[in-house]
Amino acid sequence: MYKIYLGVDIGGTDVKIGLITSDGNLIKSTAFSVDFDHYKTPIIDTVLKSIDIFLENNNLDSNNLIGIGISATGQIDTYSGTVIGSAGHIDNWIYTPIKDIVQNKYAVPVSVANDANCAVIGEYWKGSAVNYSNVIMITIGTGVGGGIICNGKILSGKIGLAGELGHFSIDKSGKKCTCGNFGCYEQYASTTTLVNNVNELLNSLPSYPFNKTEKINGKFIFEQVKLGNSDITYIVNKWIDDISVGLVGLIHIFNPDLVIIGGGVSSQEAYFITPLRNKVFNMIMPSFKRHLKITSANLGNNAGLIGAIYNLIKDNNLGGIYDN
Ligand SMILES: [Zn+2]
Repeated sequence: MYKIYLGVDIGGTDVKIGLITSDGNLIKSTAFSVDFDHYKTPIIDTVLKSIDIFLENNNLDSNNLIGIGISATGQIDTYSGTVIGSAGHIDNWIYTPIKDIVQNKYAVPVSVANDANCAVIGEYWKGSAVNYSNVIMITIGTGVGGGIICNGKILSGKIGLAGELGHFSIDKSGKKCTCGNFGCYEQYASTTTLVNNVNELLNSLPSYPFNKTEKINGKFIFEQVKLGNSDITYIVNKWIDDISVGLVGLIHIFNPDLVIIGGGVSSQEAYFITPLRNKVFNMIMPSFKRHLKITSANLGNNAGLIGAIYNLIKDNNLGGIYDN
């Protein structure tokens, strides 16, 4: 019988479900909204329903599955596969025993880990971190996520919470964070912050320089940098400075051979990755420059799905059982 892995990547906006081979190739995937009624329907209910629809649409059932690897938003206890914390505001999510619920329904091995940790593992298995063994990944988006690979293994900490790189402070008297502390990295390094700072600048100008219907997002901001908009370039450079300060600290702690930048803005090589790399290399101690590479992620939104399957195979010793 046709046997395959099912990857499930649960985010705050949608759940992505995909079919993945035992050597980490994503065959196809579909996304389903999870916030269509502002989480009144618990995410886990939407996830189960979406898995059923996905399997049916692909003429599969649970007998075709070797196992289900799950990448999930929030703080995940990887041993019990339960959501035990969240810095965001998603109703009906915290304390969801994801692993038990999914395992009971489909009767196959299930593994659950935090989405940012799955992303770095995905890059390590099939993406830009192949052949590196000490890797730090930061994913820049609505917030900042992170994952650390130390000597070829994900740094999980006691129960799987390690690598929460959005929440170390770079300014003790800085901005208040959703986690309750002040000056967290996420409050400076996220795309949300970049967009907010640009909006603040635009609204402070004597006359608003763009059409009011123009959506100010990462893509628009970098288009303006490319066009030579000096006000926006100034804000972008300050944002890159803040990102580099955090990275320098992380590099001094972990001595990585690779730093990966993920998230939508990471596709901006010339106006983001290159200046960031230059700033970081100017600030780190010389011996840390040896063997260090800083690059963008290359699996995009699929890193979490692929990493979740790597975890599942390792946790359950499932390698090499892909057959038709
Ligand atoms: Zn925080």
